[in-house]
Amino acid sequence: MLARGSTIGILGGGQLGRMMAIAAAQLGYRCIGYAPQGDTVAEQVCESFFANAWDDQAALAEFAAQCDVVTWEFENVPVATARAIPADKIFPHPRALETAQDRLAEKRFVEDLGGRPAAYARVDSTAELEAAVDRLGAPGILKTRRDGYDGKGQWRIMSARDADALRLPDVPLIYEGFVEFDAEFSVILVRDHNGEMRVWDSPRNTHDDGILATSTLPAGPVIEAQVSEARGLAEKVASALDYVGVLTLEFFATREGPIFNEMAPRVHNSGHWTIEGAATSQFENHIRAVAGLPLGDTHTVASKVVMTNIVGDDILGAQQCLSLPDTHLHDYGKAEVRDGRKMGHVTQLER
Ligand code: AMP
Repeated sequence: MLARGSTIGILGGGQLGRMMAIAAAQLGYRCIGYAPQGDTVAEQVCESFFANAWDDQAALAEFAAQCDVVTWEFENVPVATARAIPADKIFPHPRALETAQDRLAEKRFVEDLGGRPAAYARVDSTAELEAAVDRLGAPGILKTRRDGYDGKGQWRIMSARDADALRLPDVPLIYEGFVEFDAEFSVILVRDHNGEMRVWDSPRNTHDDGILATSTLPAGPVIEAQVSEARGLAEKVASALDYVGVLTLEFFATREGPIFNEMAPRVHNSGHWTIEGAATSQFENHIRAVAGLPLGDTHTVASKVVMTNIVGDDILGAQQCLSLPDTHLHDYGKAEVRDGRKMGHVTQLER
């Protein structure tokens, strides 16, 4: 167990790191952040912050020396950066980043464990895209294999003609058949150093333009009927990676059962409801796991929970929601308001 007063390093400077650091402070730990840009929203709540490049070896060595344990809040932290931290200090293991950073590797890994992703094909040229559309049909979605988030790096392909007309970016791509889903949901679990796992109830997630809009519990019968199979897969993924911390898998609920969409080796936006809606939040349990503390209870504490993301200038009127009963505002403290930028979230409970 990490002694009180110890220091936890967080790679990444966004809102997930901010909420992690708040949970760590509650448990008596100090946090140091590390991200290439300074002035981040995590920095506002960290004791100190390294604003250094991901490949600055001297800064990484100094950061690691100041931390008792290191984790990350951002899945695009370069694998080499995570590997630069002594292996007995960083949790989860960097191999989780390596698997999740490439959509092709991630899908193969999950298939090997018995999961079912959407039909997919590797695409590195226009000819391969045409062949993929021929084989898998249209509509479909062309995605960059790396660095995608919140629907960025994705193109809907409605017909073979769209595929012809598209000027492909010069990066590895993957074409996925469009999944006709009834709903979307996520499995969020936490695993500790001894392999013990706890899972939260799965929320029903809705997206706008590829960005998570809401997470709602209970998720309803269509999703609830598919959660046990999806959890089974998530647990296999966590065990195969000897994972320590919070892990998220996203699924489509379809007539054929749960179809795996993607995994995030970190706390997740669709788990923000757990701050007020569960006995222990995803952030607290992530810190407990990496610190070697006993895991907290994950049960849902309300009969209904709705988490709504606040995107762009909707943050400007957001304080109004505080007059509603059992409603909790999380403002991430981002000074610059931009269209499509996640600025905060609101969680409403019905007990
Ligand atoms: P992703 O970044 O891959 O999670 O995609 C963001 C959102 O786009 C998903 O949550 C879905 O709403 C939608 N989406 C992505 N891939 C597919 C697919 N193969 N079929 C249908 N919808 C998809």
